[in-house]
Amino acid sequence: MAEPKTAELMEKIVSLCKRRGLIFQSSEIYGGLNGFWDYGPLGSELKRNIKDSWWRSMTRFREDVVGLEASIIMHPRIWEASGHTSTFSDLMVDCLLTKKRFRADQVDPQSGTAYFYSGASDTVLGKECGDAFSVLLPPGKPPESARKTARLFYQDRGLQEPTLLGERNEPVQNTTRYNPENGSLLTEPRPFNLMLKTYVGPVESADNISYLRPETAQAIFVQFKNVLEVSRQKLPFGICQIGKAFRNEINPRNFTFRSREFEQMELEFFIKPDEAIEAICGSVAKPTGRGHPGEPQPNWGWQLWHQYWVEERLAFYESIGLPRNSLVEYWQKPDELAHYARATVDVLFKFPFSKRDANGELAGEELEGIAARSDFDLSQHQRFSGKSMTVFDEELKTAWTKLDPAKQTELAGRYQQTRLSYLTKTGEAPEKAARMAQEEAEGLGKGYFVPHVIEPSAGVDRLALALICNAYAEDQAPDEKGKMESRVVMRFHPRIAPVKVAVFPLLKNKPELVNKAKAVRDLLRAEMSVFYDEAGAIGRRYRRQDEAGTPFGITIDFDTLGEKGPELQDTVTLRERDTMKQERVKIGDLLRILTEKIR
Ligand code: ATP
Repeated sequence: MAEPKTAELMEKIVSLCKRRGLIFQSSEIYGGLNGFWDYGPLGSELKRNIKDSWWRSMTRFREDVVGLEASIIMHPRIWEASGHTSTFSDLMVDCLLTKKRFRADQVDPQSGTAYFYSGASDTVLGKECGDAFSVLLPPGKPPESARKTARLFYQDRGLQEPTLLGERNEPVQNTTRYNPENGSLLTEPRPFNLMLKTYVGPVESADNISYLRPETAQAIFVQFKNVLEVSRQKLPFGICQIGKAFRNEINPRNFTFRSREFEQMELEFFIKPDEAIEAICGSVAKPTGRGHPGEPQPNWGWQLWHQYWVEERLAFYESIGLPRNSLVEYWQKPDELAHYARATVDVLFKFPFSKRDANGELAGEELEGIAARSDFDLSQHQRFSGKSMTVFDEELKTAWTKLDPAKQTELAGRYQQTRLSYLTKTGEAPEKAARMAQEEAEGLGKGYFVPHVIEPSAGVDRLALALICNAYAEDQAPDEKGKMESRVVMRFHPRIAPVKVAVFPLLKNKPELVNKAKAVRDLLRAEMSVFYDEAGAIGRRYRRQDEAGTPFGITIDFDTLGEKGPELQDTVTLRERDTMKQERVKIGDLLRILTEKIR
């Protein structure tokens, strides 16, 4: 069957999400709340599976990463240190006519003829409005259409029958100053802080303002020292966290893609600065090309660690069913990088609503960013909290004493330069910055430094949406009588499928079948999510599970009860969702077979 067109496809996906209980609009009976979503019975299982897969691969299966679960509301100074209070803003513009708000960088460039008005008068009321206004018309639209929009603008400003003043027009190219929906002029862009504010305690005063965290990462930085102490980890090691984050997005859109409340899965992987690696290992290994650099080595600097995490993350996405060709590895250009970042790779997924590139290919939208953030974060918290964030490294101290003095001077000099550059950017007075940088460089020789960090930061909800979009398929399947009919099938990877297996007694009015089926259900459900269904024809029941994305179906029939002889007794049919193939397997083997497939 041909692939549905993208807008149509997205509509089908959104409606399936509601119909099958993957995702509902939040507060729906009250008309909904823009940017907030609820996950239904299947959606909550899906999200749980995503988070479990991430958690297992990030920490349980690794020696060098430990977990954290921190509070959502934290000390407001944290957001000053992280820069969120002053710079976590998007530029917004409002439509002067409808007041609809847009993110300035998301307004599509348009060309056409702009009509300008210097104001309007109303002879009936004897009033005038001197506000300038303009309207953009696409090529071919008559000027009257601009006048109509302009009159609405002046009516909104108190005139009843506006006569437009000073009309003139000129062609414009690729402008983002007009509302693409109605041609009205937009306000000048102005910053809008995305953090959601609240008050902690009974008094609503400025002193009690706090924020719902806009990212989970900062808690990891502020608990870095505690975790280091209790976990007996040594650098390089990481701390990971899954949790809610909140951003008052100007324009939530594309279903759950840009929400105001969402969940993040973040890792902060702490490494030694390159100067320390060079002192210990003699040199820092350099990447020899793209691809996975293999098992971590002691002589890796930030570049190889960054590359390692990019590849690990791509492998994770593939392991839960996103094919490599649905993903894009986007290396941010130097002018796109945050000032403290040395490199950032965005992992993009080709959502049906993604823009298309010059070749007509889906360009992809961000699922995750993997950033090499230098020592910026811990340095900031060190400055703002007054608490040391340095670590002591015995290996470095010993290695340093064995370096020849010229090498010591070179490494200390380089370290001093980068610290000076950081301190100067923070606004420290030049003399103080120079003194601090020198002290820190001396500290390096004694084994002390502020760790650098590699941060893979992913969104649970965006990943859930990517998996849903990727899973959605329409194909043909035989009905009860073997006639082909179209089916919707969610091809979730068994690892993240909301329900792993459905158990069906062939008939619901035969107690022997029902009892046996319930025994199979009970056998399996300690290990996986099982759905028991006895209602309706078996073909219908399969179809319902195909739509829910359940990868396996088990049918208990009369052969199971031994009615066709002992060799089939206690065997069931195991049906595979994608191929629709059925095989006969022993009940005693089910747990092993299924566990292998879903792990
Ligand atoms: P964008 O540019 O799309 O706003 P970002 O670069 O600001 O994203 P980060 O601050 O790097 O995003 O956040 C890390 C991850 O958190 C993103 O890759 C994304 O998966 C998720 N995320 C961020 N903002 C949202 C949101 N509003 N809704 C859902 N997920 C989000």
